[in-house]
Amino acid sequence: MPKKEPKKFAIIGGGAAGFFSALTLSERDPTAEIHLFEKRNQWLSKVKISGGGRCNVTHQCFDPKTLSEKYPRGSKELRAAFHTWQPQDTIDWFAQRQVQLKAEADGRMFPTTDDSQTIINCFLQEAHKAKIKLKKGHGIDAISLASDGSFLLKINGEKEVSYHAVCLALGSLKSSSLEHSIRKFGHSIESLAPSLFAFNVNDSRTYGLSGLSVPNAQVWVDSPKESQTGPLLITHRGMSGPAILKLSAWEARKLQEKNYHFDFSINWLAHMPKNSIIEALEKQRIENGKRTLKNTVLFDFPRRLWESLLDYANISPDTTWSQLSKNNSETLVQELTQGLYQAQGKTTNKDEFVTCGGVKRREINFKRMESKLVPNLHFAGECIDLDGITGGFNFQAAWTTGRIAGMAMAE
Ligand SMILES: Cc1cc2nc3c(=O)[nH]c(=O)nc-3n(C[C@H](O)[C@H](O)[C@H](O)COP(=O)(O)OP(=O)(O)OC[C@H]3O[C@@H](n4cnc5c(N)ncnc54)[C@H](O)[C@@H]3O)c2cc1C
Repeated sequence: MPKKEPKKFAIIGGGAAGFFSALTLSERDPTAEIHLFEKRNQWLSKVKISGGGRCNVTHQCFDPKTLSEKYPRGSKELRAAFHTWQPQDTIDWFAQRQVQLKAEADGRMFPTTDDSQTIINCFLQEAHKAKIKLKKGHGIDAISLASDGSFLLKINGEKEVSYHAVCLALGSLKSSSLEHSIRKFGHSIESLAPSLFAFNVNDSRTYGLSGLSVPNAQVWVDSPKESQTGPLLITHRGMSGPAILKLSAWEARKLQEKNYHFDFSINWLAHMPKNSIIEALEKQRIENGKRTLKNTVLFDFPRRLWESLLDYANISPDTTWSQLSKNNSETLVQELTQGLYQAQGKTTNKDEFVTCGGVKRREINFKRMESKLVPNLHFAGECIDLDGITGGFNFQAAWTTGRIAGMAMAE
């Protein structure tokens, strides 16, 4: 009997999702001939710079439902997918390869080395062991379907090579050479928009306060019902920190439509009900009537911001609590709990950013990460219309979708 030819698979994109699907495929089908293509001359370039060079690999959250709520796009589909591969699986996978992860107080998980190169080294070693053919500097320009159902890849503008199945792990589709091929397969692409960015704000209330952070702020664009909470950082250009980044993710499309010029509100004391704040001011009036506002900074508020808000509210800092008029008291509460600010543009958050939008989710069978239109065409990672907030959720989506794609290709 003639020896059966091994099936040839192409994984396009040497990032997190591409490596994870290639390694899963080889684990499930050691006979598979796997070619991993990367157009750049560097593997895993985003892993390298991720998390400020430390790589926030995943998040310490092990409940698929809670985890899925961290994804402004793709939440429903990922919730089911996390039952196949979730952060505990990621932690175990790395531990089995002598890479230990540790959690920080906020749940973000990093390699104990605090070095993203640890993750890169692990993937490269595993890929060599699995004899995956690593082809960097190989950009795929087009993919088409041959009459026998196989895929023809045009590599570096030259030869066409045939593959049994393909996984697209291309990352952001912004100016992707394969957008045309994807559309030709009948797939549609949800419009792209940046996510996870800081707001540019030029406002007298924050002048000179760059570097100051408030531990628990609530921010929203149109309605407090659609607010985000968390630490807020005043920067030299405006505002950043988890609360702002989360808001930029959830409102990514809306803010793009507004061309990044919009009003937003801040409650600087998200942990305190408004009534308690009003009561606290009243208590000061009764118990500390002779003290000046400047000398009684309430609620552990940063002094400089407190003074700045008083100034903006036209309240002299030398006013004593007993002199504080009802009107001024109301204005102060308003400033503390729903100050209105204006964003004029955005700034890229260097620690993490992603693209919202990509191949439409409803055209993908998430049980196999396979196209519903073209058999044996798989998708993984950021090229799909799914993205998470900061905290390791974006890589987790890459591991999960890459894992499922690899498993399905091996079947
Ligand atoms: C600065 C920064 C820091 C980040 N930090 C974190 C973090 O700490 N934690 C976290 O969870 N997320 C982080 N992210 C987000 C995370 O990097 C992405 O969600 C993740 O990389 C997506 O993985 P991917 O494999 O889908 O895409 P990518 O990592 O972008 O990989 C896709 C690869 O495909 C290649 N490619 C594209 N087209 C072709 C083609 N036609 N032919 C061949 N190759 C091609 C690209 O060159 C690229 O290398 C960060 C992002 C940035 C920009």
